[in-house]
Amino acid sequence: MRQIRIGDVTIDAVIEREGPWRRPEQFFPMYDAAAWNRALPEMEPEVFNAELGMMNVTYQSFVVRSPRHTILVDTCTGEDKGHPPPFDFPGKERWRKELFALGVTYEMVDYVFCTHLHIDHTGWNTTLRDGRWVPTFPNAKYIFHKGEYAAWEAEHAKGANPPGTVFRDNCLPIVEAGQALLVDDGYALDDLITLIPTPGHSPCHCCVDITSRGQRAVVTGDMMHHAIQCREPDWCPGVDWDPKQAAASRRRFLSTVAGTDTLLLPIHFPAPTVGLVTADGDRFHYRYKRD
Ligand SMILES: [Zn+2]
Repeated sequence: MRQIRIGDVTIDAVIEREGPWRRPEQFFPMYDAAAWNRALPEMEPEVFNAELGMMNVTYQSFVVRSPRHTILVDTCTGEDKGHPPPFDFPGKERWRKELFALGVTYEMVDYVFCTHLHIDHTGWNTTLRDGRWVPTFPNAKYIFHKGEYAAWEAEHAKGANPPGTVFRDNCLPIVEAGQALLVDDGYALDDLITLIPTPGHSPCHCCVDITSRGQRAVVTGDMMHHAIQCREPDWCPGVDWDPKQAAASRRRFLSTVAGTDTLLLPIHFPAPTVGLVTADGDRFHYRYKRD
């Protein structure tokens, strides 16, 4: 993705991995071949690898720079986490190199937002140092939704971690280091950056709204994973916390931005990632913004 500018703010992508990933029929329990084949020519060509029959899925963070703050939204899977396949991506240096190439050091990050506390959105939150997980960004405040944190804390207490050790290794050390801000739905970082509650994929999933000088972009986290969810808004991945609620959040959000000039930044959409939504009856189209 090329850098985009929203008023006084710039947004860049930092990629951990990209390319063919999962088969839609495996990822979406509601998959229907006729619906998929109908939707395929209506979607951007980048979203599917027809030869392999796999969706192209990117894992990336967004670096949001305002005149006052450097903000990282979502932190991929990280390194040294010991995740089992398929989250054991090789070559983690790509993410670090892309971040540093933007002129951003770990020390420069003022805030880290996690749209939700899943394995692939919290990874770089922490770094293994002398056998302990410590915050990767020493000067940052990490913004977690209070309800999201509480839900995974409760799951962790039950021994039902979100896959593996995500809460223990990626979230808890941030709170213990005193670097977490546990916030409510109405949280505003400043007059530019606010949260939009879109629960369902996870207990208190939030999108991050960036508005400056009349322009607007929204980092949509995992509110949708693939463009097919604009054509088929009820399709939910098997990993959703509450699929019904996730579909309702998706429809509500997409309806509010359809036909507007709000730019969307869905974490898992392949490059060029950034796009606009239009309505089509009770469905939607996602179009990349290519200029
Ligand atoms: Zn994700």
